[in-house]
Amino acid sequence: MAARTIAKPSIAIIGAGIGGLAAAASLIRLGFKVELYEQATQFAPIGAGIQLTANAMKAFRGLGLVDVLRGNGFVPAAFHSREWDTAKVTNVLIMGQSLEQRYGVPDLMIHRARLHAALAALTPSACIHFGKKLVAIEQHGSHATLAFADGTGVEAQLVIGADGIHSAVRETLFGSGQPRFTGRVAYRATYPAARIDDAAIDERAKWWGPDRHVVHYFTTAGRNEIYFIAVTPEPKFQVESWSMRGDKDMLLAAFAGFHPRVRAVLAAAPEVRKWALVERDPMPSWGQDRIVLLGDACHPMMPYMAQGAASAVEDAVVLARCLAGVAGDNISAALARYAASRKQRTARMQLTSRENNWLRQKTDTDWVYEYDAWNVQLD
Ligand SMILES: Cc1cc2nc3c(=O)[nH]c(=O)nc-3n(C[C@H](O)[C@H](O)[C@H](O)COP(=O)(O)OP(=O)(O)OC[C@H]3O[C@@H](n4cnc5c(N)ncnc54)[C@H](O)[C@@H]3O)c2cc1C
Repeated sequence: MAARTIAKPSIAIIGAGIGGLAAAASLIRLGFKVELYEQATQFAPIGAGIQLTANAMKAFRGLGLVDVLRGNGFVPAAFHSREWDTAKVTNVLIMGQSLEQRYGVPDLMIHRARLHAALAALTPSACIHFGKKLVAIEQHGSHATLAFADGTGVEAQLVIGADGIHSAVRETLFGSGQPRFTGRVAYRATYPAARIDDAAIDERAKWWGPDRHVVHYFTTAGRNEIYFIAVTPEPKFQVESWSMRGDKDMLLAAFAGFHPRVRAVLAAAPEVRKWALVERDPMPSWGQDRIVLLGDACHPMMPYMAQGAASAVEDAVVLARCLAGVAGDNISAALARYAASRKQRTARMQLTSRENNWLRQKTDTDWVYEYDAWNVQLD
């Protein structure tokens, strides 16, 4: 794609998670200069795996990342949906070469730290500012002033809030409504596959119980690292921190009736971490004047379709394309086009994820996987 030559706005991105890093990389690719502000003092992605479905991989293809992600991840030959107690198969999604031929990119599983490192490498380190927790934004016509907790501040002509589900940018725009705790928690662990008898388990599977489930997959081409996420009701969970060390005995008790093959995957984890699952309804507005949101900041969703990060990366690419497509500093037109192009799709993902039946039986994956953020027609 041709580099942009017309006047470029100064852009501040808040949050260097997957969405913020993808926005930075996409904007840089289209000729913009960006500054990224992250509250953490260094990158420390959680020790978990992530599924990158074909639509996410198409967004990453435009950033030149397919080979590096393939080299650092795992492409399963198939996904199996199984009944929780009998292991009866209710659906098989053929993946590997077949899925790659159908959608043009692999669908792969990877450790979040390796995805994060690959994405971060696309932005010059001088443009990533750590220890910058955004606490306030003031809008003044053609620019906004940002204030950070360390007492510093900057000005920018465009502010992108990629600061996740508890977004401070969102709060400055729309008030402090907290996301809703769903009464469900997710236990997650990543550990060396040598701790289990890996010949006996599926490369990627979801075990469906009546009100709880387990997903597991390998995260390296050599199948030497395994990840699981086990979701179960815990309505009394006190949401003190959104992520904390989990109690393995509680985990095993919650999945006591599950098939021995999946219980073995849970039992082999040296330690587990635990997350409260929270969500919001689709939001009517994603921004105001020179401030716009992307990713979990504007459409957090349940993780049951593996589309949270994927949709954040799609947002990032489409937002960059919209900004590159307007003349001069007509930022408002670009932001309106971005929201119009993205809201219907992400709302559908939020509502479909909530149902938690994606891939349980034979499922039409095309509306999710066919989408190509770099080439889709914009509204
Ligand atoms: C259990 C679970 C499993 C999941 N599995 C998958 C999956 O397999 N596939 C998938 O696509 N998605 C998955 N998701 C969803 C995915 O993790 C999120 O949707 C995705 O990480 C959102 O990215 P983001 O960049 O919008 O937000 P985040 O990743 O939350 O990043 C926000 C960043 O902003 C920073 N920040 C926050 N506040 C401030 C502030 N005030 N100032 C400066 N910086 C700030 C944070 O430190 C963070 O670095 C899962 C989610 C959960 C909970």
